[in-house]
Order: sequence, then structure tokens, then C-alpha cells
Amino acid sequence: MLNKNQPLIFELTKEGRIGYSLPELDVPEIDLSSLLPEGYKRTEPAELPEVSELDIMRHYTALSNRNHGIDSGFYPLGSCTMKYNPKINESVARYPGFANIHPLQDESTVQGALEMMYDLQEHLAEITGMDEMTLQPAAGAHGEWTALMMIRAFHESNGDFHRTKVLVPDSAHGTNPASATVAGYETVTVKSDERGLVDIEDLKRVIGDDTAALMLTNPNTLGLFEEDILEMAAIVHGVGGKLYYDGANLNAVMSKARPGDMGFDAVHLNLHKTFTGPHGGGGPGSGPVGVHKDLIPFLPSPVLVKKDDVYTFDYNRPQTMGRVKPFYGNFGIYLRAYTYIRSMGPDGLKAVTENAVLNANYMMRKLEPYFDLPYKQHCKHEFVLSGRRQKKLGVRTLDMAKRLLDFGYHPPTIYFPLNVEEGMMIEPTETESKETLDSFIDAMIQIAKEVEDNPEIVQNAPHTTVIKRLDETRAARTPVLRYIKQ
Ligand SMILES: *Cc1c(COP(=O)(O)O)cnc(C)c1O
Repeated sequence: MLNKNQPLIFELTKEGRIGYSLPELDVPEIDLSSLLPEGYKRTEPAELPEVSELDIMRHYTALSNRNHGIDSGFYPLGSCTMKYNPKINESVARYPGFANIHPLQDESTVQGALEMMYDLQEHLAEITGMDEMTLQPAAGAHGEWTALMMIRAFHESNGDFHRTKVLVPDSAHGTNPASATVAGYETVTVKSDERGLVDIEDLKRVIGDDTAALMLTNPNTLGLFEEDILEMAAIVHGVGGKLYYDGANLNAVMSKARPGDMGFDAVHLNLHKTFTGPHGGGGPGSGPVGVHKDLIPFLPSPVLVKKDDVYTFDYNRPQTMGRVKPFYGNFGIYLRAYTYIRSMGPDGLKAVTENAVLNANYMMRKLEPYFDLPYKQHCKHEFVLSGRRQKKLGVRTLDMAKRLLDFGYHPPTIYFPLNVEEGMMIEPTETESKETLDSFIDAMIQIAKEVEDNPEIVQNAPHTTVIKRLDETRAARTPVLRYIKQ
């Protein structure tokens, strides 16, 4: 139940009240403070809330009800694939045989865990059409950077030190230019044409023998398939560059088309998007990278290999780009992805892609009469609307996003990609029912009508949430670090 006047936990405090009981001490008592050096001891007791067990349970339950997550409602966040997290994944991730192993255990005692990781690598290599995978990177952006460092190591191993540029389309996810910069490259933007696809003429203009790689998302961030991909691959390979695939959202093409077959040399996946790892709140994520055989020597070390039916880590990799994650990486996320892939099977994964694309096109066509649709062709797993028409009536996309909260929906991604004015990027995902899609469509249509008849209701939204209109950036820029007692 939402309580608008939910007190702070500090306001519930009653001196001396505690929420736990411990059995009587039956070992010698140790004064822990005697172990601490003087300078580190508190001079005053910590200001902690003093509440009963029920108080604290109810407090956190009430707070959790204010949160919007994939288990509480529709979450069409384009380019982020907030799809459902199957509960079977959670049971498997908690199997004691997996959950209780220690990263320093001898390899001979964790063969089952290594087998699962090895199999997962094989499945992901098959899905992407790549020759080998590493599971090490902790997230999508980390995978991008890891792959670029492998590409750099590849060029340098050929004595090729003059490739200083990475090409990135203007519609790319922001992590692409960021990863290129962190990998020490200069980013060069490639323009999109009126179809929303890479402008081949512009690509030819900016590419050269100083190009290390072209980073592409296909379908791109507008949800559109780059039809000229084979020609682009030939152009990039023609100057000795490598082609990098941002595969964060593979539910647009999985089991239908493979980056390896399109000519890509390296690809990262987001197990916390396409492969149903829980996502949000900062992780943990997992961003495995697959490579074409040219890049295998440069994979992060150690590489998990199978020798005579024994799984082992190979550290003897003289050309490795280095190590990017300690121990096994984010092992719990591998288990969830593995459970998902095994429980779906190849036909299931194909159905995922078909439904993701069907749902996005259904929603796009239903909304097309009410909003501007800058790119008219069929989309893949997501589409981008423009709020241009509404802006002329004094209502911005931000206002409409806030108004969606009143209908109980998480808003889509807004003002992205940057080349769409007042953009709204919607990804319904494959796991939502037609009824859910229809009610979201109805809410969007109602908002479009309100903009014409009663714009104030949209401009001042939200009206039904516990906290009204929040400043977009203040929480991140001026966090409340400590409760100040009055
Ligand atoms: C989410 C996403 C990324 C970045 O992934 P993180 O795990 O958040 O680092 C990169 N590219 C695209 C297209 C994405 O959607």
C-alpha cells in the first residue's frame, strides 16, 4: 500500500527498541574496541535508527512499492531491453553446488562450473557466428573496450601503429565513442542518411588506412537493419580495418542472422539484456566478447579450454591484451543466461526474435497516426517516435514521459538517439502480452489527445506518484549523504 506520508526510518526511532534477539553468549566476550587503534575509534555512538523487526520490514516493503521494476510493470526502455527475468534462472543460480564454490578452489573441484562456462561460450559463439568467446567482461561497455584493445593488439602485432581512428555512426549508443576514447582512439562520426542507416558515401569519405575499426549496431539504435552491411564490411576490410558489432540487444536478430556471417570480427553481448540477467540498479552485468579467428591470440587471459575432457584455464597466452576481470567474472549471470538458453532451445530463441520484432512493429503502426514517425520502414526490436508535433503545441517529450507515470508505466528512453528531435525510443520486448501492449498504446493515444485538449495535465504530470516532478539530474549531482538530525 502506498503511504504518501511514509516516515523516514529515523523518524520511527524509539530509544532502546531493537529488531533482533540473540541467544545468550556461551563463549568468552571480547571487547572489539580494544583491537582498534585509538585514532579509528568513534567518539560518539553511530546515529542508527532503533526500530522493531516489524517496523523495519514494513518500512522497506513500503519503499519497495514505490519502485518500478520489470516484475511490477511494463518497462519499454528502448536500447536497454528490460525484459522479464525467468524465475527458474534464480533457482538455478542458487543451487548450492554453484552458489557455495570459492573462486580459489582447485580447478579439479569445480569441473561442473567450468563445464557450464565452456558450454555457454560455445552456445554464444554459435549464436553470434564467432570463432571463440571470452566471458570475462563485466558489462556491455567493458566488452566494447576489451574488444577494441584486442583490435589494437592485433594491429600492433602487424607493426601497424598508425591506425588512430575508430569510426562510429551518429546514431550509436553513447558507450561506443566512450569505449573508443578510453581505448586510446580518436572517434570519428559517420553520418546517417535519410533512411536512418549509415550513409555509405560519408563512410567512404572518412575511412582510410588510419582506421582501426568501425563500430556498428545492427539493427542500429533506431531499430533499423543496416541493409548495406556486406558492402560496409568490404569497405572496412578493404582498408585493413576491423568491424565491431555492438550486440547488446540481440533479440532483434538472434537465430535469424549472425554478426559473424555479416563480416564482423568482434562482437559483445549483454547477458543482462538479451539473455535475461536481471538488469538495473547497477548490475552485476556480463558482456562476453566473441572474436573471429584472427583475434583469438589477443583474447583476455586466462582462456577457458577443454583438454582431454578436462576444463582448465590456459594462462600461456603471450599475445593476450591482458586480464579484464578477476576470478570467473560475474558467474551468477552466466548461470542465468545458460539456464535461459538451455530452457529455450534454438526454436525458442528464434521465437523470441520473431515476437520481439512483431511486438515492436505492432506498437509502432498503432502509434503512427498519433506521433511523428521519422523512419517509416518496418523496424526490428525497437522503434523511435518523435514528439515534434506535440512540441508545437507546447508539450515536450519529457512531459509525456512524466505523464506515462500516471498510467503506471515506466517511460521509454527519451531524447535518444540524438539525431531524432524530441525522440521516444520504445522497445516492448518479446515477453509482453498483446493486452499489455494494447493498454500501453491506449495510454499513449490518450496522452496525445490530452496534448491537444488539455495540455496542462501533461505539462504538470505526474499527478499520482508519491513524489511529483523530480529534477532529472539533481539526485545524481547532489546526493543526500546523511540524514541530519533536527
Ligand atoms: C546497453 C547498451 C550498451 C552498454 O551496455 P552496458 O552493460 O550498460 O555497459 C551498449 N550498446 C547498446 C546498443 C546498448 O543498448
